[in-house]
Amino acid sequence: MTAIRIGNGYDIHRLVPERPLILGGIKIDHSLGLLGHSDADVLTHAIMDAMLGALSLGDIGHYFPPTDPQWAGADSLKLLEQVDQLIQARGWQIGNIDSVIVAERPKLKPHIAAMRDRLATVLKLQPDQVGVKATTNEKLDATGREEGIAAYAVVLLVQS
Ligand code: MG
Repeated sequence: MTAIRIGNGYDIHRLVPERPLILGGIKIDHSLGLLGHSDADVLTHAIMDAMLGALSLGDIGHYFPPTDPQWAGADSLKLLEQVDQLIQARGWQIGNIDSVIVAERPKLKPHIAAMRDRLATVLKLQPDQVGVKATTNEKLDATGREEGIAAYAVVLLVQS
């Protein structure tokens, strides 16, 4: 039996004025940003939860509790590095990631390559191991009304 594991992750953050919009570690120019204890990088959070889920290690709230002041305004890419170290310490590495961001606005297509490259650099992967896609929610529900941005991710782990 080939040693592989799969995990999935989901996250959503509220869109509010006077917050930066950071997705996949990339700051995107927009009138609204995501509210959260950390930098609220919803895509990176979904990816971390997928990595943890693949090894049944719980979720990011367990490792980086929103009640802990040390994670206030935290750069989610730093948290991603820590989760990657956790995975590696247990003898696993990422085979590939695929993800979807659900956002009505702004248009994310021009930023996809930058997000993919940033995540790949932090995780020491090739860009083609990191799938980042974006879709609107056809104006339906909270993401469609621009009340928030959501992200879904799946991660395949292989034994190192
Ligand atoms: Mg989150």
